[in-house]
Amino acid sequence: MSSLKIYNTFSRKIETFKPIHEKSKEVGVYSCGPTVYWYQHIGNLRTYIFSDVLKRVLIYDGYKVKHVINVTDVGHLTSDADEGEDKMERAAKKEGKTAGEIADFYLRVFKEDFEKLNILNPNFWPKASEHIKEQIEVIKVLEKKGFTYKTNDGIYFDTSKDKKYGKLAKLNKELIIAGKRVGVGEKKNKTDFALWKFSGDTENGGKRLQEWDSPWGVGFPGWHVECSAMSIKYLGDNFDIHTGGIDHVQIHHTNEIAQSENSTGKKFVNYWMHAGWLLSEGKKISKSSGGLFTVSQLEEKGYNPLAFRYLCLTTHYKKPLDFSLKNLDSSQTAYKRLKNIISELKDDRVENKTYLKDFEKAINDDLNMPEALQVLWKLVRDEKVKGKVKTIKKMDEVFGLKLLEKDGVKIPSEIKKLVDEREKSRKEKNWKLSDELRDKIKKLGFSVDDTDKGSVVKKL
Ligand code: AMP
Ligand code: ZN
Repeated sequence: MSSLKIYNTFSRKIETFKPIHEKSKEVGVYSCGPTVYWYQHIGNLRTYIFSDVLKRVLIYDGYKVKHVINVTDVGHLTSDADEGEDKMERAAKKEGKTAGEIADFYLRVFKEDFEKLNILNPNFWPKASEHIKEQIEVIKVLEKKGFTYKTNDGIYFDTSKDKKYGKLAKLNKELIIAGKRVGVGEKKNKTDFALWKFSGDTENGGKRLQEWDSPWGVGFPGWHVECSAMSIKYLGDNFDIHTGGIDHVQIHHTNEIAQSENSTGKKFVNYWMHAGWLLSEGKKISKSSGGLFTVSQLEEKGYNPLAFRYLCLTTHYKKPLDFSLKNLDSSQTAYKRLKNIISELKDDRVENKTYLKDFEKAINDDLNMPEALQVLWKLVRDEKVKGKVKTIKKMDEVFGLKLLEKDGVKIPSEIKKLVDEREKSRKEKNWKLSDELRDKIKKLGFSVDDTDKGSVVKKL
């Protein structure tokens, strides 16, 4: 098999992947996880589809992946620059719930989205609020080594003390040097960041919902330190691959490196991989600015979440992907057509080595999924070739598109008739009859939802 090549943001080069544990073939992967104060939109999910594909390729290549996705449930402020309110605190106050309730609710929805998008679960889902002790330990070591200082609102990392600071993002040293920039406040350098914030600092002066004792006083950890503490705890001081959205290069991952390498004295991560942005009509969208759909919203519009997964695979993970319902429509049509063709195929129990070789070449070429999809299409259209089903099954271990799964259950003709009658009654605006028909359908064990694309029937 061709060896795996991946783009390493750190070197800005495509590199041949060499695992730390060559013998055991165990590979550690850490993916920056969601801040669970609100629904994750499909932009966030594109990033997790990317890490899922990476993981599936590693597994395909024979590696045993130890995967961690952290859950940020404290300390992520409304601005990445240590200012503003804690996103969790704000959501809890707004919804009249505890921070724990907010985290549990949005994490549950996030996990449901993983299932809908056929994203494999990580081995660990560590929560920041459950790893305060580990975070304090990292800060204590940094303090002992002279990398920290105190301001009136917290303990900060002094980036001018770190000779290698900003290498990942290729930051200009000028920006780091004290006094060169305005707006640093009490911070010594513009790039310095909070490791621990004192509780008294809430924007509206009220008491915080989540706060802990520490050697520096009651407060909470800065956002970046959770990823250093938890990745080291679960994967070791030096591990193989760290992933995230491209927006994390400049601040979050830069700061993770500074904290981790200066506390352990070792190289933190061997390969940094970042997913490109999901755009909406050419514009950048983030969760805080709103605007992108959730997976459930797509379902309500009559889309199969796996059609979104298919759409993500049509563009290389590093490139921006322009999302629109029109694009999703095309993906859904292609995906359906693909599944229809596959459902007609007969299982002949052999694998086609030639197609698999092309497929492996594509996936090992920095996860070139558009190319891998082309190989798949060529295979399904090839009239002469043998072993299609088994080959597709093998490929789908990486695509994760459930290509051989029959779509849903068969809807009995009796139900279909009732659904048609109901559609007719709805067109005639006979709501009473349409409700009666829905009840009847329900009694027979099926549900019917009205979407923009017509009725969707499911088995209850
Ligand atoms: P958050 O919950 O805001 O911390 O974001 C979770 C992940 O989604 C991070 O890795 C972000 O980089 C990523 N992300 C956020 N918005 C987008 C987007 N529009 N496209 C791709 N990735 C995104
Ligand atoms: Zn992180």
